[in-house]
Amino acid sequence: MSKTKLYEGKAKIVYTTDDDNQMLIHFKDEATAFDGVKKGKIKGKGIVNNKMSCHLFQYLERYNVPTHFIEQASDNEMLVKKVEIIKIEVAMRNIAAGHLCKRYGIEEGTDLQTPILEFYLKDDSLHNPLINEYHAYALELATREEVRYFSQQAIKINAVLRSYFHRRDILLVDFKLEFGRLADEIILADEISPDTCRLWDAKTRKKMDKDRFRHDLGEVEETYKEILERTLA
Ligand code: UDP
Repeated sequence: MSKTKLYEGKAKIVYTTDDDNQMLIHFKDEATAFDGVKKGKIKGKGIVNNKMSCHLFQYLERYNVPTHFIEQASDNEMLVKKVEIIKIEVAMRNIAAGHLCKRYGIEEGTDLQTPILEFYLKDDSLHNPLINEYHAYALELATREEVRYFSQQAIKINAVLRSYFHRRDILLVDFKLEFGRLADEIILADEISPDTCRLWDAKTRKKMDKDRFRHDLGEVEETYKEILERTLA
């Protein structure tokens, strides 16, 4: 299969394939945090993020959540359907962490009475500012129908994944999703991994995600491997 590099981001490389409707995503070991200010490498992260994403996309498909997943192409590569990415990052939160604590003065680890759905503009040069649905319509990022649809999907994905992780003694604290357009459909794209989710051990509340890298908590590589094993179990 011939492949040409289409785009290289902070954590992934996207290649075209022989099929115009498909792309190959290569998950890198490179890690960035705080808007790219902190840079590093987490050995084996590409494999962990690819395998976890492949597994969770397939699991979500069983709950009628359409995704861009086609097949796991190798340890660190995923074959996906080519979509037009919607320029909105959709975040769901169950427990207060990260920016939510800073913005609203909430103590980390506080249980949220209902999950919070948030939208961010997908634009690194603007530092992904928080937006609401009216920004989405006014800036023509998505239609009302699209926002309604992917909001419902995000809420459903949260319910499905939260109980999936709960059964494995892991708390799904928060996560970020990206959706794409494919013909007249909206499907889940990007990745679901320790880079895009906060995952804590339910008993010890040990952080098992990119916060270990962000805040130099140590055992980064080991913890990425451990969370993959527990997710696949
Ligand atoms: N997140 C992400 N990409 C981003 C920003 C956030 O995947 O560009 C994820 C992050 O890992 C966390 C959730 O979205 O699981 C909420 O992140 P938050 O808004 O608290 O920002 P952070 O403190 O992670 O920068």
